Amino acid sequence: MKNIIIGLVVVCLGGVAYLILNFFVFERQKPVFQSQSSLPTHWNLKDDLVLQFSDESGIRSYSVEILLDSQTLFSENEVVLNKPKKFGISLPKPLTELKDGTTLQYKICVSDWSNVNFFAGNTTCVDVSLIIDTSTPQIEILARSPKISRSGSAFVLFKVKDIALDSVILSNGKNEFRAFRHTFDDIVLPPDEAVFGAFIAWPLENVLFEGSINVVDKASNKSRILLNFPKNLSAPIRKSNIRLKPEFLESKLRTLLDQISDVQYDDFADDRERFLFINERARSKDLEQILEATTTTISNKSYISSGIVPFTPLKNAIVVGYFGDERSYYLNKDFVSAVYHMGLDLASVRNAPIFATNGGVVIMRQYLGLHGNTAIVYHGFGLSSLYAHMSDSTLKVGDEVKVGDIIGYTGSSGWAFGDHLHLEILVQGYAVSVQEWANPKWIEENINAVFEQARTRLLEQIAAKNKPK
Ligand SMILES: [Zn+2]
Repeated sequence: MKNIIIGLVVVCLGGVAYLILNFFVFERQKPVFQSQSSLPTHWNLKDDLVLQFSDESGIRSYSVEILLDSQTLFSENEVVLNKPKKFGISLPKPLTELKDGTTLQYKICVSDWSNVNFFAGNTTCVDVSLIIDTSTPQIEILARSPKISRSGSAFVLFKVKDIALDSVILSNGKNEFRAFRHTFDDIVLPPDEAVFGAFIAWPLENVLFEGSINVVDKASNKSRILLNFPKNLSAPIRKSNIRLKPEFLESKLRTLLDQISDVQYDDFADDRERFLFINERARSKDLEQILEATTTTISNKSYISSGIVPFTPLKNAIVVGYFGDERSYYLNKDFVSAVYHMGLDLASVRNAPIFATNGGVVIMRQYLGLHGNTAIVYHGFGLSSLYAHMSDSTLKVGDEVKVGDIIGYTGSSGWAFGDHLHLEILVQGYAVSVQEWANPKWIEENINAVFEQARTRLLEQIAAKNKPK
């Protein structure tokens, strides 16, 4: 009996030992290629391109072959001595000079220390094709706004020459703005050239402005040029003190808090607390949602490619509040809170129709705690307009709006003292001076003239190129 048990134990241990040995020495797991998702399509021949492989029994050897039109340009075989479980292969550069746009094929094979396949190990082969691109993108400003003011906007149209662009971004020194492709109907450019346009903002809270255009191509070649706008540093700030009447405040706060689902009127000690909640926390929640809508949901489509007209959505309106007003609220003579007013307040009659003065697409239609019944229309090149405190609107997200369409009707929903329209202009999430966008002269010089100058410049360049020598 004892012998049988010992015999069984020996057989079991032998089996386990065999399995372990078999697992490590004859394992059939091929080396794993780790860099599949991070591989670039283009190469500047300057950056090191390293392909990562991993294998449990360790990497034994590898081979690299460079092919150009199926002809071998270069090949090497190497044995790896210390059995690394992770191994990076730095791609060798071609020894001959090749033109940009040439496609190189790399064939890389990696074998491990397994004894399978008559001790040759498991082998993984990968094919990688890379387009050579050693030149940096060339940026040329075609036309731009004559200057920029603090809290204001500017427009720029520029041309980029490169075989494969990755990102085209404008910066004001602190915030970034996407640029958008633009085509002039009557102008055809070579395939490696493209025109881009973007509005750039100098938000009120930024003291400095340092504009630049930053372009990176698919081979990680980078270019940067400065946007040397003359700057107007004075922001249009006007101070105003608003005394809140207790009776008005109470009824308004009840309505506002009813609209916000996660709080109750009785959650707060008094009207001061309630007002602080609305003016600060509800405001920041509104801003988050507006930022989200005006940055992430915007498309490449432009509705203002042939120029724009001033934003004057309300007929016979008077201005009852300006962008940049610093509003300090007082309750029973005590200071409660201060905020900057980020829009233009326009009033005419009750429930007055709000007209679209520029075409676009609706990217937000909802009730916001402070802005009330709100619609945001996206126009193109990163520009959106926002209409708040409406009494009604039949628009839905995704609706296209044409010039003259009714966006909604004025009202006093949200934090509003009386029936009016709160109009905001946003450049990729940043609220900018609406005074500029309502001013015909500013629109003409900063936008429409820029489109025209850029077009003229491109036509002149094409004419010069086609002139018989
Ligand atoms: Zn307002």
